Amino acid sequence: QFPFGRRLPCDIYWHGVSFHDNNIFSGQVNKFPGMMETVRKITLSRAMRTMQDLFPLEYNFYPRSWILPEELPLFVAEVRMMKDRNPSWKPTFIVKPDGGCQGDGIYLIKDPSDIRLTGSIQSRPAVVQEYICKPLLVDKLKFDIRLYVLLKSLEPLEIYIAKDGLSRFCTEPYQEPTLKNLHQVFMHLTNYSLNIHSGNFIHSASVNTGSKRTFSSILCRLSSRGADVKKLWSDIISLVIKTIIALTPELKVYYQSDIPAGKPGPTCFQILGFDILLMKNLKPILLEVNANPSMRIEHEQELSPGVFENVPSPVDEEVKVAVIRDTLRLVDPQKKKRKDTPAGLPLHYPALLFFQACFSKETKETGEIMRHITDPIPCRRCQGVEQAPEAGEELPEAALPSLCLKQVFPKYAKQFSYLRLVDRVAALFIRFLGVKGTTKLGPTGFRTFIRNCKLSNSNFSMAAVDILYIDITRRWNSMGIDHKESGMCLQAFVEAFFCLAQRKYKSLPLHDQVASLIELCECRLAALRGKRLVWGCG
Ligand code: ADP
Repeated sequence: QFPFGRRLPCDIYWHGVSFHDNNIFSGQVNKFPGMMETVRKITLSRAMRTMQDLFPLEYNFYPRSWILPEELPLFVAEVRMMKDRNPSWKPTFIVKPDGGCQGDGIYLIKDPSDIRLTGSIQSRPAVVQEYICKPLLVDKLKFDIRLYVLLKSLEPLEIYIAKDGLSRFCTEPYQEPTLKNLHQVFMHLTNYSLNIHSGNFIHSASVNTGSKRTFSSILCRLSSRGADVKKLWSDIISLVIKTIIALTPELKVYYQSDIPAGKPGPTCFQILGFDILLMKNLKPILLEVNANPSMRIEHEQELSPGVFENVPSPVDEEVKVAVIRDTLRLVDPQKKKRKDTPAGLPLHYPALLFFQACFSKETKETGEIMRHITDPIPCRRCQGVEQAPEAGEELPEAALPSLCLKQVFPKYAKQFSYLRLVDRVAALFIRFLGVKGTTKLGPTGFRTFIRNCKLSNSNFSMAAVDILYIDITRRWNSMGIDHKESGMCLQAFVEAFFCLAQRKYKSLPLHDQVASLIELCECRLAALRGKRLVWGCG
């Protein structure tokens, strides 16, 4: 724990739940500002919808979703329309409360009229989503995959994926949803926290049996059945990269607000938990992204009624220890120094590490893991071995297993860069935010954006600009979760930007409209900057 009153800065700060700026001016923090908010069910669904509007085929790995209560009429209308078009379509939907976790408050419905409107929807917004009825089954059971992803840096974007993950199994044989079985959570929901309470849950000491297994054991099994496991991995990698590309615009807005450029501040990294479902045809579907994935490597066992004991969980240990160990290896600030260290200077390993004092479950869990990681690594200084490494002597790093975290971005950047359109819209938004520390654009900022990009003309007066601003901002603020600041949030700006693009380039498809407007804005701002430089020189 970060000792109270400590003044010396740390190399790495490990926060329990979310980013909180306790006067950290240097080093690295294991959380990004705003990540919790960005991956909430509603915010994630909105970000994915924006990407689906721009790139429908590339983002078809996220189930069609509607936000309740505001999109209830749209949900009803769209389902009716699709049923009219295809009378044999018998869909099922899953309703998930926003901000919920561990399956809390989730239920399945067959028809929009089954949504439980009484009280809770108004006070607790939710996402309703198309239910994937034909998941891949193993041993007749539905399961999902928890993959660990390290977002090592936002600018430039750097993403790593753990080579192994967890597969969490249901505890009752799966049947496609019918009115009779809709409520059977042990059949339809894969959450560990739910299924652990089923009498059928199997704790196993082996990684390829039981109700929680390694993902690699599933891949082995699929491969032995002749499945194209390489293709599956490559689909999963592209799902992860595309999802993070959808999240980065919002994250950048939070980042500049909490850690303004030009001021001393830490850099951030974060381990994310991706929950993925495989369809029968092996297509991966994104269920959700977890900003605070559990790092527990033990589970509770009931010895006798009411008497519980924590026992090691080999499956969790195998996957999670490697993830944290390799995250530390990748962000290790000593690594760079070691590279630059002339022979003769003492080495100190592992990197100085402190937990930010924070009384959370996760801090304890991670502490438990940290002992596993740091114990076997000798620290020269602590052992009094303050001598220079002999020429050719291996660094302790070499004694560790090979990295389980695999870089996927920028490695595959070329294939995915064209998807980063909203990132460029966010860059315009941030440019006009003005006062540092804000996340919302005021009316003056919006007018300046329009003026500097020369988007107003005789057909689109500044009065019309103001109306557009007021209309969109009011609507977003009436349904927003964040009422702290007034003004236009990024997602509202993106909507306004799409409106402007549609107005300007009427006949083009949406993607081309938006891309053209971005180019126009960037071009005009660059010209303006050039002019100002010339005036400055003059
Ligand atoms: P929570 O954060 O409460 O765990 P999830 O979105 O992960 O919420 O959903 C809980 C479980 O419900 C998932 O683990 C999965 O088994 C099931 N599930 C969620 N969404 C879908 C879907 N669209 N289709 C099929 N099953 C789903």
